[in-house]
Amino acid sequence: MSSAQPVHTSTVLSRVATSVCLAGSALVAASCASTSSDEVAAEPATEIVVVEEQVGDSASSQNNLSTDSGNSRPQRGPNDQRLVPEQEMYGAQRPQEATVAGQTKSITDPNSIWILVNKHNSLPRYYEPEDLVTPDMPAKGTHLQLRAEAAKALVDMSRAAQVEIGKPIQLVSGYRSYDNQKDLYDKYVAKDGQEAADTYSARPGFSEHQTGLTADLSTVHGKMEKFGDSKLGKWTAENSWKFGYVLRYTPQNHSTAGYQPESWHYRYVGKELAKYYHENHLNSLEEAFNLPAAPDYQTGAN
Ligand SMILES: [Zn+2]
Repeated sequence: MSSAQPVHTSTVLSRVATSVCLAGSALVAASCASTSSDEVAAEPATEIVVVEEQVGDSASSQNNLSTDSGNSRPQRGPNDQRLVPEQEMYGAQRPQEATVAGQTKSITDPNSIWILVNKHNSLPRYYEPEDLVTPDMPAKGTHLQLRAEAAKALVDMSRAAQVEIGKPIQLVSGYRSYDNQKDLYDKYVAKDGQEAADTYSARPGFSEHQTGLTADLSTVHGKMEKFGDSKLGKWTAENSWKFGYVLRYTPQNHSTAGYQPESWHYRYVGKELAKYYHENHLNSLEEAFNLPAAPDYQTGAN
Protein backbone atom coordinates (compact mmCIF):
# COMPACT_ATOMS: atom_id res chain seq x y z
CA MET A 1 0.00 0.00 0.00
CA SER A 2 1.01 3.59 -0.04
CA SER A 3 3.21 3.40 -3.08
CA ALA A 4 3.54 7.16 -2.86
CA GLN A 5 5.31 6.82 0.43
CA PRO A 6 8.99 7.56 0.46
CA VAL A 7 11.34 4.94 1.73
CA HIS A 8 11.75 5.79 5.36
CA THR A 9 14.76 3.93 6.39
CA SER A 10 17.30 6.53 7.26
CA THR A 11 20.64 6.36 5.61
CA VAL A 12 22.19 5.84 8.99
CA LEU A 13 20.09 2.81 9.71
CA SER A 14 20.60 1.32 6.29
CA ARG A 15 24.30 1.77 6.37
CA VAL A 16 24.71 0.29 9.79
CA ALA A 17 22.41 -2.57 9.04
CA THR A 18 24.23 -3.48 5.89
CA SER A 19 27.66 -3.30 7.34
CA VAL A 20 26.77 -5.35 10.36
CA CYS A 21 25.10 -8.05 8.35
CA LEU A 22 27.87 -8.25 5.80
CA ALA A 23 30.89 -7.81 7.96
CA GLY A 24 29.79 -8.73 11.43
CA SER A 25 31.00 -11.66 13.40
CA ALA A 26 30.05 -15.13 12.35
CA LEU A 27 27.45 -15.13 15.06
CA VAL A 28 25.90 -11.91 13.86
CA ALA A 29 26.08 -12.92 10.23
CA ALA A 30 24.35 -16.18 10.96
CA SER A 31 21.61 -14.38 12.75
CA CYS A 32 21.19 -11.87 9.95
CA ALA A 33 20.57 -14.67 7.55
CA SER A 34 18.35 -16.56 9.88
CA THR A 35 14.65 -16.66 9.32
CA SER A 36 13.86 -19.67 11.38
CA SER A 37 12.78 -19.43 14.94
CA ASP A 38 14.17 -22.91 15.33
CA GLU A 39 17.56 -21.33 15.43
CA VAL A 40 16.69 -19.12 18.29
CA ALA A 41 18.18 -20.33 21.47
CA ALA A 42 15.71 -22.43 23.32
CA GLU A 43 15.88 -20.10 26.22
CA PRO A 44 13.28 -17.72 27.40
CA ALA A 45 13.88 -14.46 25.73
CA THR A 46 14.99 -11.71 27.82
CA GLU A 47 16.12 -8.30 27.33
CA ILE A 48 17.81 -5.55 29.09
CA VAL A 49 19.78 -4.26 31.96
CA VAL A 50 22.21 -2.19 33.88
CA VAL A 51 21.55 1.40 34.23
CA GLU A 52 24.50 3.61 34.47
CA GLU A 53 22.89 6.22 32.37
CA GLN A 54 19.56 7.07 33.83
CA VAL A 55 17.06 8.03 31.25
CA GLY A 56 15.78 10.82 33.41
CA ASP A 57 19.13 12.45 33.86
CA SER A 58 19.88 13.41 30.33
CA ALA A 59 16.23 14.06 29.74
CA SER A 60 16.10 16.75 32.37
CA SER A 61 18.96 18.62 30.83
CA GLN A 62 17.55 18.77 27.36
CA ASN A 63 14.25 20.22 26.46
CA ASN A 64 12.52 21.20 23.29
CA LEU A 65 14.68 19.10 21.06
CA SER A 66 11.66 17.87 19.25
CA THR A 67 10.65 21.13 17.74
CA ASP A 68 9.99 21.21 14.06
CA SER A 69 13.42 21.64 12.67
CA GLY A 70 13.94 18.89 10.18
CA ASN A 71 14.87 21.21 7.35
CA SER A 72 18.33 19.79 6.93
CA ARG A 73 17.02 16.29 6.41
CA PRO A 74 16.64 14.51 3.12
CA GLN A 75 13.34 14.49 1.29
CA ARG A 76 10.34 13.63 3.35
CA GLY A 77 7.04 12.87 1.75
CA PRO A 78 3.82 14.65 2.61
CA ASN A 79 2.57 11.70 4.61
CA ASP A 80 5.69 11.28 6.58
CA GLN A 81 4.80 12.99 9.80
CA ARG A 82 7.57 11.71 11.94
CA LEU A 83 9.60 14.36 13.56
CA VAL A 84 13.22 14.33 12.61
CA PRO A 85 15.46 14.51 15.63
CA GLU A 86 18.25 17.01 15.27
CA GLN A 87 20.79 14.60 16.65
CA GLU A 88 21.74 11.51 14.76
CA MET A 89 23.46 10.02 17.74
CA TYR A 90 22.28 9.20 21.19
CA GLY A 91 23.94 11.01 24.00
CA ALA A 92 23.48 14.14 25.97
CA GLN A 93 21.37 15.74 23.28
CA ARG A 94 19.33 12.84 22.20
CA PRO A 95 15.72 13.68 21.36
CA GLN A 96 13.12 13.13 24.01
CA GLU A 97 10.06 13.03 21.84
CA ALA A 98 9.03 11.71 18.49
CA THR A 99 6.18 12.69 16.24
CA VAL A 100 4.76 9.81 14.26
CA ALA A 101 1.40 9.47 12.60
CA GLY A 102 0.33 12.87 13.82
CA GLN A 103 1.09 12.14 17.45
CA THR A 104 3.90 13.44 19.61
CA LYS A 105 4.97 11.44 22.62
CA SER A 106 7.98 11.07 24.83
CA ILE A 107 10.41 8.31 23.93
CA THR A 108 12.41 8.74 27.14
CA ASP A 109 9.69 8.86 29.82
CA PRO A 110 9.30 5.29 31.11
CA ASN A 111 5.58 5.90 31.53
CA SER A 112 5.13 6.83 27.87
CA ILE A 113 3.76 4.06 25.67
CA TRP A 114 6.47 5.08 23.20
CA ILE A 115 9.35 4.68 25.64
CA LEU A 116 12.27 3.45 23.56
CA VAL A 117 14.31 0.77 25.25
CA ASN A 118 17.27 -0.65 23.41
CA LYS A 119 20.99 -1.19 23.87
CA HIS A 120 21.53 2.57 23.92
CA ASN A 121 18.54 3.47 26.07
CA SER A 122 17.95 1.96 29.47
CA LEU A 123 15.35 2.35 32.18
CA PRO A 124 15.98 3.56 35.71
CA ARG A 125 16.76 0.65 37.98
CA TYR A 126 13.79 1.21 40.23
CA TYR A 127 11.25 2.05 37.57
CA GLU A 128 8.09 0.01 37.98
CA PRO A 129 4.81 0.85 36.24
CA GLU A 130 2.05 1.93 38.60
CA ASP A 131 -0.81 0.38 36.68
CA LEU A 132 0.20 -3.26 36.38
CA VAL A 133 -2.68 -5.71 36.07
CA THR A 134 -3.03 -9.40 35.28
CA PRO A 135 -4.68 -9.86 31.87
CA ASP A 136 -7.76 -12.08 31.76
CA MET A 137 -6.41 -14.63 29.29
CA PRO A 138 -4.51 -17.90 29.16
CA ALA A 139 -1.19 -17.49 30.91
CA LYS A 140 1.73 -19.62 31.98
CA GLY A 141 4.77 -18.32 33.77
CA THR A 142 5.85 -16.23 36.70
CA HIS A 143 5.79 -12.67 35.38
CA LEU A 144 2.28 -12.25 34.11
CA GLN A 145 1.39 -8.61 34.61
CA LEU A 146 1.21 -5.82 32.07
CA ARG A 147 0.32 -2.17 32.20
CA ALA A 148 -3.45 -1.79 32.05
CA GLU A 149 -3.62 -0.41 28.51
CA ALA A 150 -1.33 -3.09 27.11
CA ALA A 151 -3.17 -5.79 29.03
CA LYS A 152 -6.54 -4.78 27.65
CA ALA A 153 -5.19 -4.72 24.12
CA LEU A 154 -3.64 -8.15 24.53
CA VAL A 155 -6.87 -9.62 25.87
CA ASP A 156 -8.69 -8.12 22.89
CA MET A 157 -6.13 -9.66 20.54
CA SER A 158 -6.38 -13.08 22.17
CA ARG A 159 -10.18 -13.02 21.96
CA ALA A 160 -10.01 -11.97 18.31
CA ALA A 161 -7.70 -14.89 17.60
CA GLN A 162 -10.15 -17.19 19.32
CA VAL A 163 -12.92 -15.94 17.07
CA GLU A 164 -10.95 -15.92 13.84
CA ILE A 165 -8.87 -19.08 14.08
CA GLY A 166 -10.29 -20.81 17.10
CA LYS A 167 -7.34 -20.46 19.44
CA PRO A 168 -6.50 -17.94 22.16
CA ILE A 169 -3.08 -16.47 22.77
CA GLN A 170 -1.16 -17.38 25.91
CA LEU A 171 0.90 -14.88 27.88
CA VAL A 172 4.26 -16.30 28.89
CA SER A 173 6.07 -13.28 30.28
CA GLY A 174 5.09 -9.66 30.81
CA TYR A 175 6.51 -7.13 33.24
CA ARG A 176 9.85 -8.07 34.70
CA SER A 177 11.64 -5.91 37.22
CA TYR A 178 15.26 -4.91 36.95
CA ASP A 179 16.15 -7.59 39.47
CA ASN A 180 14.11 -10.23 37.66
CA GLN A 181 16.00 -9.37 34.51
CA LYS A 182 19.33 -9.41 36.29
CA ASP A 183 18.66 -12.94 37.50
CA LEU A 184 17.80 -14.09 33.97
CA TYR A 185 20.69 -12.34 32.29
CA ASP A 186 23.22 -13.52 34.85
CA LYS A 187 22.02 -17.06 34.33
CA TYR A 188 22.49 -16.81 30.58
CA VAL A 189 25.92 -15.26 30.94
CA ALA A 190 26.97 -18.07 33.25
CA LYS A 191 25.70 -20.59 30.73
CA ASP A 192 26.78 -19.12 27.39
CA GLY A 193 29.13 -16.25 28.17
CA GLN A 194 28.34 -12.58 27.92
CA GLU A 195 28.91 -12.14 24.19
CA ALA A 196 26.42 -14.83 23.32
CA ALA A 197 23.97 -13.85 26.05
CA ASP A 198 23.87 -10.30 24.73
CA THR A 199 22.45 -11.57 21.45
CA TYR A 200 19.33 -12.99 23.04
CA SER A 201 18.97 -11.55 26.52
CA ALA A 202 18.89 -7.95 27.60
CA ARG A 203 21.04 -6.67 30.39
CA PRO A 204 19.12 -5.46 33.43
CA GLY A 205 17.71 -2.00 32.80
CA PHE A 206 17.80 -2.55 29.04
CA SER A 207 14.85 -4.94 28.81
CA GLU A 208 11.59 -3.89 27.25
CA HIS A 209 9.90 -6.17 29.74
CA GLN A 210 10.59 -3.66 32.49
CA THR A 211 8.26 -1.21 30.74
CA GLY A 212 5.21 -3.41 31.39
CA LEU A 213 4.36 -2.89 27.72
CA THR A 214 5.93 -6.06 26.39
CA ALA A 215 4.55 -9.57 26.21
CA ASP A 216 6.12 -12.88 25.27
CA LEU A 217 3.46 -15.08 23.72
CA SER A 218 2.79 -18.69 22.82
CA THR A 219 -0.01 -21.02 21.91
CA VAL A 220 -1.66 -22.65 24.90
CA HIS A 221 0.21 -25.92 24.57
CA GLY A 222 3.13 -24.81 22.46
CA LYS A 223 6.59 -23.56 23.18
CA MET A 224 7.23 -19.87 23.04
CA GLU A 225 10.17 -20.41 20.69
CA LYS A 226 7.84 -22.11 18.21
CA PHE A 227 5.20 -19.41 18.26
CA GLY A 228 6.27 -17.95 14.92
CA ASP A 229 5.83 -21.31 13.22
CA SER A 230 2.30 -21.80 14.48
CA LYS A 231 -0.88 -20.76 12.77
CA LEU A 232 -1.65 -18.59 15.77
CA GLY A 233 1.79 -17.00 15.66
CA LYS A 234 1.40 -16.18 11.98
CA TRP A 235 -2.05 -14.72 12.64
CA THR A 236 -0.60 -12.62 15.44
CA ALA A 237 2.21 -11.33 13.26
CA GLU A 238 -0.33 -10.24 10.65
CA ASN A 239 -2.87 -8.76 13.02
CA SER A 240 -1.07 -7.42 16.08
CA TRP A 241 -0.96 -3.89 14.67
CA LYS A 242 -4.74 -3.70 14.92
CA PHE A 243 -4.37 -4.01 18.67
CA GLY A 244 -1.41 -1.68 19.09
CA TYR A 245 1.37 -4.25 19.17
CA VAL A 246 4.46 -4.61 16.99
CA LEU A 247 6.80 -7.56 16.67
CA ARG A 248 9.96 -6.08 18.11
CA TYR A 249 12.82 -8.38 17.06
CA THR A 250 12.75 -9.76 13.54
CA PRO A 251 15.28 -11.11 11.05
CA GLN A 252 15.02 -7.77 9.26
CA ASN A 253 15.98 -5.64 12.25
CA HIS A 254 18.70 -7.70 13.83
CA SER A 255 21.38 -5.19 12.96
CA THR A 256 19.22 -2.34 14.26
CA ALA A 257 17.96 -3.80 17.52
CA GLY A 258 20.84 -6.15 18.19
CA TYR A 259 18.94 -9.27 19.16
CA GLN A 260 18.26 -12.57 17.51
CA PRO A 261 14.76 -12.72 16.04
CA GLU A 262 12.04 -13.40 18.59
CA SER A 263 8.75 -14.38 17.00
CA TRP A 264 7.06 -14.29 20.40
CA HIS A 265 8.10 -10.88 21.75
CA TYR A 266 5.50 -8.18 21.14
CA ARG A 267 5.70 -4.57 22.23
CA TYR A 268 2.65 -2.40 22.83
CA VAL A 269 2.98 1.07 21.33
CA GLY A 270 -0.68 2.02 20.85
CA LYS A 271 -2.92 1.59 17.85
CA GLU A 272 -1.91 4.75 16.02
CA LEU A 273 1.79 4.03 15.90
CA ALA A 274 1.27 0.32 15.27
CA LYS A 275 -0.99 1.10 12.32
CA TYR A 276 1.53 3.55 10.91
CA TYR A 277 4.31 1.00 11.44
CA HIS A 278 2.31 -1.62 9.57
CA GLU A 279 1.17 0.55 6.71
CA ASN A 280 4.62 1.94 6.07
CA HIS A 281 6.35 -1.42 6.35
CA LEU A 282 8.71 -0.22 9.04
CA ASN A 283 11.18 -2.68 10.47
CA SER A 284 11.97 -1.31 13.90
CA LEU A 285 10.97 1.25 16.50
CA GLU A 286 14.34 2.89 15.94
CA GLU A 287 13.32 3.43 12.34
CA ALA A 288 9.85 4.63 13.33
CA PHE A 289 11.40 7.25 15.60
CA ASN A 290 14.10 8.01 13.04
CA LEU A 291 16.88 7.16 15.44
CA PRO A 292 20.18 5.41 14.83
CA ALA A 293 20.55 1.68 15.07
CA ALA A 294 21.54 0.37 18.49
CA PRO A 295 22.93 -3.09 17.83
CA ASP A 296 25.52 -3.00 20.61
CA TYR A 297 25.91 -1.61 24.09
CA GLN A 298 27.87 1.53 24.45
CA THR A 299 31.00 1.69 26.53
CA GLY A 300 30.21 1.53 30.19
CA ALA A 301 26.81 -0.01 29.72
CA ASN A 302 27.66 -2.71 32.11
ZN1 LIG B 1 10.46 -10.91 25.47
